[in-house]
Amino acid sequence: APSKIHCNVGTIGHVDHGKTTLTAAITKVTCKHGLGKFVAYDQIDKAPEEQRRGITINAAHVEYDTPTRHYAHTDCPGHRDYVKNMISGTSQMDAAILVVAATDGHMPQTREHLLLAKQIGVKNVVVFINKADLVDAETLELVEIEMRELLTQYGYDGVASPVVVGSALKALQNDGEGEKCIDELLKALDTYLPVPERDTKSPFLLPIESSFTVPNRGTVAIGTVVKGRLKKGDQAEILGHGAQLKTVVTDIQVFRNSVPSAEAGHNVGCLVRGIKPDQLARGMIICPPNIFRAYNHFKAQIYFLTKHEGGRSKPVRSGYTQQMYSHTWDMEWRCDLKPGLEMLMPGDNAEVFCTLRRQMVLEPNQRFTIRENHQTVATGVITKLLSDVEVSS
Ligand code: GDP
Repeated sequence: APSKIHCNVGTIGHVDHGKTTLTAAITKVTCKHGLGKFVAYDQIDKAPEEQRRGITINAAHVEYDTPTRHYAHTDCPGHRDYVKNMISGTSQMDAAILVVAATDGHMPQTREHLLLAKQIGVKNVVVFINKADLVDAETLELVEIEMRELLTQYGYDGVASPVVVGSALKALQNDGEGEKCIDELLKALDTYLPVPERDTKSPFLLPIESSFTVPNRGTVAIGTVVKGRLKKGDQAEILGHGAQLKTVVTDIQVFRNSVPSAEAGHNVGCLVRGIKPDQLARGMIICPPNIFRAYNHFKAQIYFLTKHEGGRSKPVRSGYTQQMYSHTWDMEWRCDLKPGLEMLMPGDNAEVFCTLRRQMVLEPNQRFTIRENHQTVATGVITKLLSDVEVSS
């Protein structure tokens, strides 16, 4: 029903802890309640290669209802190489379902995903302690205590956050008793998560995740609306990676249905008139004409992870160049320290000057991460936009 509260959630956590099994189990239980369509494990996990590479994100989304809410749910892959996808996939999550296997407790990717969730502004976390069928009650208690401590350590509410214990596999395979943990999880989401606040008043901002061609219709760009509302027929501009294109959004699709408008939080496909697919790149922004601008120079508050947190062991000096990830894009990024500052050590937090190889749409308070060899080494937030500087090629 349209009156239901809409929430974006998704699973995060270490590889093999049961994220995809849990996603399938949730759809099985909500389907039985008549509130969604069952999506089997292999329909979620065995995605085609282009979906694995994150070119399409629709397939990683499932949806289901509870009596009061509608959930769009992203199942994020756990492997380190897919953190890039997780960053863009979770960027609009109202809450994350942190899956941790009771057999292992928290693992490096549990912590990395939790750090990223905090960094990209995921407000709430609900913990699902999985594989309860394989351990005793004492272990479950210990894992719960550890997880609550971990939540607090990463800036979440370790006391109030719900922790649900169960077995996603049992829920998926057995009817009745095995499914109770899923009902409990859904109840925790319904009652713990506040009604998400959406910025629908600002001009719309839609970072492109991927694009494809529909024969006889044109080019469709896919992404999640970050803020604002766009309507079918709206004039639009496409900015970023040095591009500035004018277009008209002639159709908007949500879950494969054409809709008259879409707003913040919706994952949509936009038919963009007169645009060829090869003119688009992941990370370009669709927005109203003459509102947003692309920049290549800014100040940011940045935190370099310690070696213990998966970061660097060596200091950073002016001229440090790596890849910056924000919204759905990544771009070569150079970091310069404030005058007089010789270096930053892992664990340091400082304001730095940043320069991108090409201009991208940037806004104050925008969050980003820096990765080195597929490993997150720093997280940051833009504090001030500066006049463009020339970048030698
Ligand atoms: P992901 O990598 O986090 O998405 O993990 P998967 O959902 O692919 O699960 C990894 C493995 O753990 C699979 O072999 C699952 O069948 C198994 N698994 C998932 N949940 C449970 C559970 O509750 N109990 C047991 N015993 N195994 C589980």
